Amino acid sequence: MNLKNINQKIIIIFLLVVCYTVNGQSNKSEITNTYKIKVEKNSKDIARVEAALTLKDSTIRMVAWGHPWLEDGWATFVKKLSVKTEDGKEVPFSLVKNKAWGKWKVSAANGTRLKLSYEVHFNHKDYDWNPAGGIDSRPEITEDALFLVSKALFIYSPGVKNAKIKFNIPSNWEIATSWKKNKKGVYFADSWISLVNNALVLGNFDKKIVTNGQMNLVFAIDKNLSKYKQRFIDLMQKQLNAFSKIFGGTPNRNYLIAIRKANEDDGEAFEGSFNQVIIDNRIEDRYIVWANTMAHEMFHYWNGNYISGENPKDTYWFTEGFTEYYSGLSLMRTGVVPENIYLKKMERFLSRYIITKKMWPVDQLSLVEAGKEKHKNWLLLYGGGATMALALDIEIRTLTNNSKSLDDVMLLMKTKYGDNQIKITTASIMEAVNEVSGEDFTEFFKKYIYGKNDVLNIEDIASKAGLNFDQFSDEIYLSRKKGNEKILFDKMIRSKK
Ligand SMILES: [Zn+2]
Repeated sequence: MNLKNINQKIIIIFLLVVCYTVNGQSNKSEITNTYKIKVEKNSKDIARVEAALTLKDSTIRMVAWGHPWLEDGWATFVKKLSVKTEDGKEVPFSLVKNKAWGKWKVSAANGTRLKLSYEVHFNHKDYDWNPAGGIDSRPEITEDALFLVSKALFIYSPGVKNAKIKFNIPSNWEIATSWKKNKKGVYFADSWISLVNNALVLGNFDKKIVTNGQMNLVFAIDKNLSKYKQRFIDLMQKQLNAFSKIFGGTPNRNYLIAIRKANEDDGEAFEGSFNQVIIDNRIEDRYIVWANTMAHEMFHYWNGNYISGENPKDTYWFTEGFTEYYSGLSLMRTGVVPENIYLKKMERFLSRYIITKKMWPVDQLSLVEAGKEKHKNWLLLYGGGATMALALDIEIRTLTNNSKSLDDVMLLMKTKYGDNQIKITTASIMEAVNEVSGEDFTEFFKKYIYGKNDVLNIEDIASKAGLNFDQFSDEIYLSRKKGNEKILFDKMIRSKK
């Protein structure tokens, strides 16, 4: 909804109040799901869930995505499901097969208030989670805590607007979530996406809440990593300060950062949270690996979640590629990594672009098409996307005598689309680039984003930033041009005032 006019807002609020008052309590009960989640100390690989919801489309289900293409999706891990009416009558239901990804048909009239009871068994690690993005995308039960993803927990009926969530867990356990809690200890997910697409941590872990601007950051850190707590907090504060300068501050909300020890480094962002898995080895030396991942996932709060695609796959080149560009750039801007490491980072993504455009033994794809199979086209999407971000940043700065940059494009995308909850397309990104630069980038987008055959001349673009671009096969080397002290690159690696 695009409400620029405050009077429109007041009228809408008035209408909502009138509608709500007319429908009274029944309307309220129709839209709010309630969940009670019980986990016992001695069987913490099982959550027992009791839910109340209103049936729509004769369907109850779990979210379709985020699992490694299991036929029954997240429902694979649901046991002992029972469905009853409010007065306790059994309601027949059946699991739908054939790519329904975890959906049940329920034999009751739509609008019926149903009571569900089920168990979720946390044996997700028995499956290969790589096709879903890695182990950071699934629940992990450690000795001390449950590092969960909310996709694994909630069965809902289509049209759910929000939900109340209560926990029944051992008294010495902590809860870390981005949902708000009321005085009675009940949590509230204010949208369907907030309910089903978040991290959640229960158990004994290192919990720390800090603020950055208006944002409450809830850290849930695996006890094995407690010694690095201040490192993680300092890093996130620095990166959020850098992102605030791009997006005009942080949002007024809770945001959960769940960090656990693992045998790989990776991250996965959700609606108001991200999961980070990290190898406990040479943390001080490996900032470019784990801190880049943390910065990347945090940047997704804006790019990928707040600003999100009408058809997300079509704009992965932007939501992933530009996020990757900004994670590296922000680490450089905040001084977390030195310039030689940042140049290496850029060389890597440029190389991924060159490899996939010039050396790939398979048919060429456009950046837009590549999003259809993210896992398979990872190199092109992330490498090509970040290359486009770098190229556009340099072009915009060159065209505007450095008075505008890609930062202004990101801010415009946030205010024009994110703030108004309008979904983006590749055309929206091009319009924003045109508006900020004052030039028409139709040809550029046609060739390099929508098109699959043209390859960007990176040497020319790097030269505009004052950088040498040297290439041998897939090896890329960037360096400062000699004899030119004032190069554009210096301005790029400084934050906006
Ligand atoms: Zn990402």
